[in-house]
Amino acid sequence: MSKLKPPFGPQRRGVSRPTTAHAGQQPERGPRLPAGYSAANSNTRINMPQPFSLVGAKAGLPDPQFALNMGLNSDRQRSVMVSRLREQGIEDERVLAAMQAVPRHAFVDQGLASRAYEDAALPIGYGQTISQPWVVAHMLSVICRDRQPVRVLEVGAGCGYQAAVLAHFVREVYAIERVRGLYEQARDNLARAGSRGRVRLSFGDGMAGLPHAVPFDGIVVSAAGVKIPESLLDQLAVGARLIAPEGTVNQKLILIERVGVASWRRSELENVRFVPLRPGTQN
Ligand code: SAH
Repeated sequence: MSKLKPPFGPQRRGVSRPTTAHAGQQPERGPRLPAGYSAANSNTRINMPQPFSLVGAKAGLPDPQFALNMGLNSDRQRSVMVSRLREQGIEDERVLAAMQAVPRHAFVDQGLASRAYEDAALPIGYGQTISQPWVVAHMLSVICRDRQPVRVLEVGAGCGYQAAVLAHFVREVYAIERVRGLYEQARDNLARAGSRGRVRLSFGDGMAGLPHAVPFDGIVVSAAGVKIPESLLDQLAVGARLIAPEGTVNQKLILIERVGVASWRRSELENVRFVPLRPGTQN
């Protein structure tokens, strides 16, 4: 059984966009999350320990039909999610179409499938999370704005969801994950969701990037380091963009554009809370 520990990032915080997830809110059907677990965006309970286990979520599943029905209902649920993303300012039709197509519920534990289309990060084991849908949509939109990248790297594949979304409109997607159990989960999830052949997934420390596959037209980092690793900046093609959360307690999304062979332009975007970028691998 995987270990689930807080924080339940990546989530954004401190931004004034609308959100539908609130602390203590429960879904109309499907499992109730245990007391203490907050599906809220992280402007609530950022540093509070929140005990949670998948065993509890499974045991609390009141409707065994739910997972079966999920396949039928998920198209409609994804439409609702995509409409909400539009209301929250996401405009890139490639990203929206990809998020309409990829079954996010197939990337989380069955006991959490009913919550898969809320605008919340959810635990995936090993103390990590599947990113909040808005975060995924926003990061990919920023990377792809006014361009069509051919080769994109994701550092921190987690359960594989964001890589699957990317693979819907980017020809070569590389993704790397440092936790072996999650790497295996991502591999299986991508296969189940029909995206496996489209994502080149590897197990390793993504802080070093993927030197054998350079240069990248885009790099998306899904975990927050104190500083963005320099090796990643070097692996960007000239004209390409990297987006990454940076910081520890106070984190911001940072956009870096490589504007020349030896020059990069940096801008600060939203306040966010992500799980930490860690060196090395975990078996
Ligand atoms: N992209 C995921 C989010 C996963 S959470 C999604 O689609 O929802 C961030 C992930 O980054 C975690 O799985 C964590 O293990 C991973 N990670 C952290 N540091 C890393 C590193 N140095 N190299 C690769 N993966 C890393």
